[in-house]
Amino acid sequence: MYRRNISNILYPIAGLLGLFIVYEAVVKPVYIQTPPPTPTDQKLTADRKEAPPEQIYEPPVEEPPAATQKQLRLIDAGGVPETRHHDALEAIRDEIEKGNLKTAETQLTGLPATLQSDSKTRPYVAILWNNLGIEQEKLEGTKGSLKAFKKAVSFDAKNPVIQMNLAHAYWEQRDPAMNQDFLERLIAIAPHESFPHVALADWLQERGRLGEAARHLEQAIERAAGDPSLQSYLRTVSSKVRRTDHTDSRLSSRDGAHFTVKYDGDADQDSWTVVLEILEEAYREIGQKFGHFPTQPIVVVLHPNTNFQANTGSPAWADGLFDQVLGRIHLPTQGALTDRVWLKRVLRHEFVHALLHDQQGINSNALPNWLNEGLAMQLSSDHWPDVDQLQRHELSIIPLTALEGSWGELSSEAASVAYLEADSATRYLINRYGMHEMQQLLARLKKKQSLATAMQEELSLSYDQFQSRWKAHWQEGRTKAS
Ligand SMILES: [Zn+2]
Repeated sequence: MYRRNISNILYPIAGLLGLFIVYEAVVKPVYIQTPPPTPTDQKLTADRKEAPPEQIYEPPVEEPPAATQKQLRLIDAGGVPETRHHDALEAIRDEIEKGNLKTAETQLTGLPATLQSDSKTRPYVAILWNNLGIEQEKLEGTKGSLKAFKKAVSFDAKNPVIQMNLAHAYWEQRDPAMNQDFLERLIAIAPHESFPHVALADWLQERGRLGEAARHLEQAIERAAGDPSLQSYLRTVSSKVRRTDHTDSRLSSRDGAHFTVKYDGDADQDSWTVVLEILEEAYREIGQKFGHFPTQPIVVVLHPNTNFQANTGSPAWADGLFDQVLGRIHLPTQGALTDRVWLKRVLRHEFVHALLHDQQGINSNALPNWLNEGLAMQLSSDHWPDVDQLQRHELSIIPLTALEGSWGELSSEAASVAYLEADSATRYLINRYGMHEMQQLLARLKKKQSLATAMQEELSLSYDQFQSRWKAHWQEGRTKAS
């Protein structure tokens, strides 16, 4: 029982890696390059008699390839057009190069309308806006650059480099302007780039159009000929999407207000209504508490138990999982209706993962695992009896810093401690600082800040200080409980 409770959640953490990660690791241009995430290689002395689930089962999707160097997307602004505005434009270019971005922006905005409508200077003004955007992005991420790239496009919609920069910013911001129309135009302007196809595949798969998504992934594969590791990764994702499309074609589908439930028409006739009811309630209640609602309908796939393992590649005992590639919740349904308490726990827990995945966008994989799991436990208001029991035993605490990456290598005992700590530390964080501060922290993580920096800047507290305060608080609670 206990293992069942813990492991259902353990499995998805090892996680399927999504298109987002392809983007993070490979397609993302270097001007926003960040060091690749360091794999956690902590060695724990916990009991390792039982193999962790990931060793028993075939790993779902291989790691994405390491980042490859991309060309800087700055445009050479050397040749200032010989017009009577030459000096003004040259001065703006120099301000950008010197890093005086505010001045440059003011001057660009203040250019006389006659100059802005001059067909000779417009492409150059577009380049200046583009390069301003690149510099702003170095400081503030794509939130800072989006406006400049939009401006640049308004002066020259045909420049493929500028359009690609705008697309990267839209992608990072999960901006709804990055829709099928935009991406198809981008493909026409930049026909040799793989990124627009990856992005369109992602857009299509979010809308359940998996067959079309797979076709765009294949076009991305063709265009990634110079990068065999990207190609191989995209092939894996593409075949997963195709497989899912094939499986989906045999399933019935019902749309609720915020969820689409896919189920076996014969075996799960009754389950979908119950599942939808629980999820809609979770949507309202948890969304309200957390202050965020998913931007897209979430797909939930019900599997009669006999198919669950085969369809999802998950362990037989897994209670449910969240698939990061397709952003879907998977749930086995055998006996689900007879154990509503169990059903509700699993669905609410996985819903929080889906919610965080939606909120954090392409950086959802950068969310420290202990915080992701802790939020899933706290926001779903799930009390784990096993965890309560564990709390009375002598435990050696694993540093939270060692619980930020995948927990796949943890022994089952260490994994239990990990969940316990995740729950406790997250509860402490929320109780001590409130949900508003939690949201501010998440917003900083979304902007690629490390948790240590985010804590320092948001809570005026070092990560070490947080850990020792939380541990002291925890020990106090355990002493009382025992
Ligand atoms: Zn979980």
